[in-house]
Parts: sequence; structure tokens; C-alpha cells
Amino acid sequence: MSHEQLMPGETLGLLGGGQLGRMFAQAAASMGYHVAVLEPGEFSPAGEVSLMSIACGYDDPKGLEKLAAAAKAVTTEFENVPAASLAALAAKGLRTTPRAEAVAAMQNRNVEKAFIEKAGVPTAPHVAVRTKADFADAAETLFPGILKTARLGYDGKGQIQAASKPELKAAFEQLGCVECIFEKRLALKKEISVIVARGLDGKTAIFPVAENHHKNGILAYTVFPARIDADLAARAQQYAVRIAEALKYCGVLCVEFFILADDSIIANELAPRPHNSGHATIEACTTSQYEQQVRVAAGLPLGDPSLRTPAVMLNILGDVWFGEKGEKIEPDWPNVLSIPGAKLHLYGKKEARRARKMGHVTVVAATQSEALARAREAAVVLGLPFAHELTEQS
Ligand code: ADP
Ligand code: MG
Repeated sequence: MSHEQLMPGETLGLLGGGQLGRMFAQAAASMGYHVAVLEPGEFSPAGEVSLMSIACGYDDPKGLEKLAAAAKAVTTEFENVPAASLAALAAKGLRTTPRAEAVAAMQNRNVEKAFIEKAGVPTAPHVAVRTKADFADAAETLFPGILKTARLGYDGKGQIQAASKPELKAAFEQLGCVECIFEKRLALKKEISVIVARGLDGKTAIFPVAENHHKNGILAYTVFPARIDADLAARAQQYAVRIAEALKYCGVLCVEFFILADDSIIANELAPRPHNSGHATIEACTTSQYEQQVRVAAGLPLGDPSLRTPAVMLNILGDVWFGEKGEKIEPDWPNVLSIPGAKLHLYGKKEARRARKMGHVTVVAATQSEALARAREAAVVLGLPFAHELTEQS
């Protein structure tokens, strides 16, 4: 892969037009780069803030040709981009960060788990389920467990709990008998994630650990940095670097981890891109995850990922546009913005639908307890049902 440094004024290609791409494009623009977005559909959150939008399918040869003509380097903002498209762009001479093979590995939970294990990082006990015959291999100790589709799952979609073999069979049928992974359900003490950037030269920059809280399978809020012991945080960061190095990864990688009661750390899944749990790096770190993605794509040195301020990130789902009787309302932005340290990010999506990620608020303060108190205030203004959880104890 070429290590050519692309100077400001060049165009960086982006596969995918969602909110992660929007924040990548914003970081690129602030460093003087142009962005060309390839995304089906006329409007996209990333396309709205980019110089050029190519409206076509991710595997459209004509669209990929246009992108190749516009950019010397390409990156991605979601893992379900066909890895073949990245490979095709690489064949046309574009530098792709991450590489197609790394993205392909993360598109299938079975392959992904194997990579994590090969890197020497623990995973939840699991078995691949590809046919009904595989149920015989599901050891009794895996129950109760969670059956997940190997591909295309996100925000808890494509997952069914199963407490017995007959339930597992029913779950497999309910998921359409597609390739799955069956994992033992672990008792989680905490969920955390680590984002690591790895440059073309193999140097890494590790962000502080994020503490993640999900509701209905969707990330609801992140406390940054995580409220865990320093040695536990260091272990998670080492695991993330180990995985990035084992994959010879170039780009921004997120590793989701579970912490169990005995403080053991289990890697859950990987994302070959910036991550929702890293939004707070924009305000809370010297360099954001999006800027790191720009730097890697351009072949520039990584930035300093160190923490500048504690923060709490609240995801804003489409639900907050619905009143008590289900009527459409405008959320009370002025009162959110009147909270000191509250920074609003909206993604420009035209239609607010329940469970759809529309934006986020990052709240910073001099201390973590102050950040939590302010985030709680913002959550109350937005009517978020978990506002009461935003305390020092949780
Ligand atoms: P997604 O792609 O939807 O994020 P995940 O594998 O991260 O899929 O699962 C979503 C959530 O489900 C996790 O954040 C965690 O809360 C829970 N979960 C997933 N796997 C397990 C497991 N093996 N044991 C306990 N909880 C799990
Ligand atoms: Mg996840």
C-alpha cells in the first residue's frame, strides 16, 4: 500500500454517507481536505457536508469509477460496505484504510471471533451455527445464550435469546436459517469500548476507555472516560492494540468489551471505523477519532489522543421528536444549549423515526461528577427515560 502523504486540498473518498461519515467529512474539511461520498440516495448526512456526492449503490462499477477518478485514498464509515468495493478501489490504485480484508473479517461474527482469538484476546464461549446439524455441537454450558446472525446485525437487531436446544432451533428458524453464532449469555458488570488508530507506519494512538450503557440494544449514553480501575483500563487498551496489530490494521478500529464480575475482560465485537461510543472524543480529546481517520487516510502522523476533559455523550434518537400522545414535537434545543458544557450534534436526517439515531449531545465539565450532573439535566430536558441513571454511582 502506498505511503504517499496527501496534502490538504486533496480529495478523500468515503464509502457510506451516515453520521459517522458526516463527522469524518467535518474533520477533513477543517484540515483543508475535500470529501467525495459514495452513498445510495440523493440526500445523506455525510453528503450534505461534503464537496461531492456520488449517488449509487456501494457496488456500482460506474460509481466506483467516479470515486476513483476523484480521490487517491478511500475510507469507510460502516462495515456493511461490500469489502469487494474496497478491493476494487484498491485495484484501481486507491489507498484504502482500512483494507478490504480487515473489513471483510468484521462483516462476519464467526470470522471476527476467530481473529480476536488468534490475537490472544478472550471472547465469550460460542459456536458457529450454519445448519441445523450444528445444534448438536452446542454444548449445554452455552445455555442460556444469544443467537446472533453472523452478518448485518447492529443495535441488537438479528439477535434472539435461547435457553435450551429447542429454543435455539426455533430461534435459528426465526432468523431465516442464515449463518449465525450462538454465544453464552454472560453476566456483564460493565460494557466498555476502546478506540485505537493505527497509521500506515504501524504506529498506534489509543483513546481513553469509554463506558457504554445500552437501552433496547442501542447505545444510550457513554461516560468518558470509563469509571474503572486504571489497571483494568490499561488491560483493555492493550487488548485493543493487540487486535489492531494482529490484523495489521490501518485506520480507526473500535473494540467493544464486556467486563465480568471477576474483572476479566471479554472482547465482544469489532468495528472497522469510528464508533458511536467515540463521539465524545471530538470535545474530550486533543484529537478526535474522526481526525485520526483523516490523518490515516491522508498518510499523516496520528494526533495526540489524550483526554482534555471528562464528558458524557447522550445519543438522541428519533423518539424525542414524539410527544406523550405520539404527536410530533420539536425538542427543546434552547434549553439543552443553555446547559454549560453541552454541545449539540444533529445529523441532518430529514425524518425522525423512533430508534433512529438523529444526533447526540456531548456534555463536558471540569470533573466527571459535574459532567454527569449536566448530562442529567440535558437528559431531563430531552425527556430521556434514563436521566435518573446519570449519577456518580451507576
Ligand atoms: P450489535 O452489533 O447489535 O451491537 P452486540 O454483539 O454488540 O451486537 O450485542 C448487543 C448488546 O447485547 C451488547 O452490547 C450487550 O449488551 C448484549 N450482549 C451481546 N452479547 C452478549 C453476551 N454474550 N452476553 C451478554 N450480553 C451480550
Ligand atoms: Mg455492539
